[in-house]
This record gives sequence, C-alpha cells and structure tokens, in this order.
Amino acid sequence: MKKNLVVVGYGGMGGGFHVKHAQSSDVVNLLGVYDIDEAKNELARSRGIFAYASLDEVLADERVDLITVAVPNDSHLDIVKRALEAGKSVICEKPVAMSVAELDEMIEAANKSGQIFSVHQNRRFDVDFLAIKKIVEDGKIGKPLRIESRIHGSRGIPSDWRGEKKHGGGMILDWGVHLIDQLLQIYKEPIKSIYCTVTNITNKEVDDGFYLTVTFESGAEAFIEVGTYNFIPLPRFYMKAEKGTALISDWRECAKVVKCKYWHESEVIPVETAAGLTKTMAPRDSITVEEWSEERPQSDVHNYYRNFCAAMDGTATQMVTHKEMRLVMRVMELAFLSAEKGTPVPYED
Ligand code: NAD
Repeated sequence: MKKNLVVVGYGGMGGGFHVKHAQSSDVVNLLGVYDIDEAKNELARSRGIFAYASLDEVLADERVDLITVAVPNDSHLDIVKRALEAGKSVICEKPVAMSVAELDEMIEAANKSGQIFSVHQNRRFDVDFLAIKKIVEDGKIGKPLRIESRIHGSRGIPSDWRGEKKHGGGMILDWGVHLIDQLLQIYKEPIKSIYCTVTNITNKEVDDGFYLTVTFESGAEAFIEVGTYNFIPLPRFYMKAEKGTALISDWRECAKVVKCKYWHESEVIPVETAAGLTKTMAPRDSITVEEWSEERPQSDVHNYYRNFCAAMDGTATQMVTHKEMRLVMRVMELAFLSAEKGTPVPYED
C-alpha cells in the first residue's frame, strides 16, 4: 500500500522535486505540504495541493506515514526530531545536519521511535557517477589510484540562505555532501586523512568552492573540487587506475576508457616538440593501448522512495544507512577543520 506523504518546505526542492515526483510515484501518496511562508502554502493551494496550517497540524494527522523535510539546513534538526517523536518516518534533505552532534540527536530520536530515517542522497542515481562506479566494479583497468570528481559552474552561490553561515550555506554542505557520498560509495575503505582548502571569491562568509583530498589507508586518493567561478569547466570525472585511465567530460557524455595493453620502454620513439625531444610524452598507438567508450548506465530516481518505503515495510534495508550518513558528515566536519588549520588532519571518528 502507498505511504501517505507530507512535504515540509515548498521551495525549490520541496516543490520542484519531492512534490512533483510524489505526484507520479508508485509508492507514495501526497497528502499535502506545509511551508512556514504562507505565500508558499497559497501557491501550493493554487496548484490544487492541500497545504497544512502548521507543522503541529501535520504531526497530529494520523494518516501521515512519512514526512520529507526540504527546508534550509539549519532548520532540519528541529523538524526531523519532532516528526520522529510524533511517530512518522522521515526523509531529510541533504546535508542531513550541520554537524555530527546534530545527526546523533536525530539518530537517537529515530532509534527511540522505531521509525525509518534517512537522508535524500539522490545523486547516487546520477548517470555520470554510476558510470565511473561501474568502471571501478568491472575492474577492466584495475583498482583506482586516484579519482577526481569536479563540479564547475560560474554563477557563484545562489543569493539566498546558501550564502549565509547561520543557515548552513556554502559549497561543502551543498554540492560537497553529494560528491563525498558518491566517492565513499566507490572507496569502501578506511580513511587516513582529510585535506581541504576553500575559496571565497564571490562570498566572504561561506565557502563558494573548495578542494578536498581524502586519503585512504591504502594510499588511494579521492579528490573533490567544487567551483562556482569557473568559466571553463574541467571534466566531471577523471580516474587514474592501475591499468589505465577513465574520463567523463560532462554528465551528458559517455565515459572514455584507455587501457594499457603493452608496456615496453625500449621501443618508445622520441617525439620532437618545440624545444626538444621527449620520450616521456611520446603518444600511444593502438598496439600499446586499447580504447573504448562505455555505454551510459540506466537510472531511475524513483528508486530512492521505493527503497525507503520498502524499508518502512521491513522488506529492504534503507539505501542510505545511518553509518554512511555519519561518515559523510564527519568528513565534512574534518574538511572545515582542515581548511581552518591550513593543514591535513588525520581521520578520527
Ligand atoms: P528553498 O529556499 O528554495 O526552499 C526552502 C523552503 O523551506 C522555503 O519555501 C521556506 O519558506 C521553507 N521553510 C523555511 N523554514 C521552514 C520551516 N521551519 N518550516 C517549514 N518551511 C520552512 O531551498 P531549497 O533549495 O528547496 O533547499 C531546501 C533543502 O533541500 C536544503 O536542505 C537543501 O540543501 C536541499 N536541496 C537538496 C537538493 C538535492 O539535490 N538533494 C537540491 C537542492 C536543495
């Protein structure tokens, strides 16, 4: 049976994503929305959607099984806890909280209530991420030595709460949370250290971009960069692996893979460049490398709610676990600490 859903926060993500997807969902039935801004409730009503008068009214409605929280980051804690205490299951938008301490309070409330609680990590369904993950899992070019994941835009931070620290603004908590979660789905190994530097080009209060290196105990590295002042974007994913290289230039493109077939130093013919000869940079040919492009994976973002509802029924494990939520939150906390100190910091739970 479909779960009765209320979306709290009828803004960009609440209205533009959760309500729209709920209206075409095979697992949830949208009962209504609630927004603290009465104009947003009126807007919902004008579109034929029921809008509650208060959060208390939502929580007192016994028909409600599930609440999705899509409000600015600093308001997640209060609403998540109240919803769980009222006996509702909760999907919270990312970043689930502003700190590990806040998240622990939420997890405690979930454990006490016995309700399902998770964070909306919808970018696990991005086809570019699924493509790079598949290349790693197929193992054709061996284990990754370093994966670089980048998002480059040129419009700065949106001029809303995202530009203010007290609301949990900045790019680490915005795009960073997605990109960290994605790479930790690929590297399931212990983290050794975190090194992060931030940019403040268009916003002095919060990071408008960052460079983050996560070093694992094995020596492998994940590098994440978000930039909001990049008028020429760098490729979305670049992976250096034991036996080759993979590149995804843009989320709309297929992955290009080059595998080293033949490694023979003595047969390299030097090439002439403007200022001299080089063997090191001599190009490869089809005898020494194999090159192909990977088909784009299929993805259905409705699977997030399908999984969550199955977890409510006890027929599946929730896709984004509390442990994973905590790990991503901790990496972000240490990224802020590293940026503040200007040095790498060891990973500690
Ligand atoms: P937004 O500013 O467009 O909308 C937020 C809405 O919440 C507004 O309508 C506001 O009036 C309402 N609101 C604020 N405080 C409230 C409260 N206490 N109770 C009820 N309503 C309240 O912001 P947004 O872009 O929709 O972002 C909301 C959340 O979704 C954030 O946590 C953000 O990080 C997340 N988000 C996730 C994705 C994703 O891809 N998963 C994308 C965008 C935003």
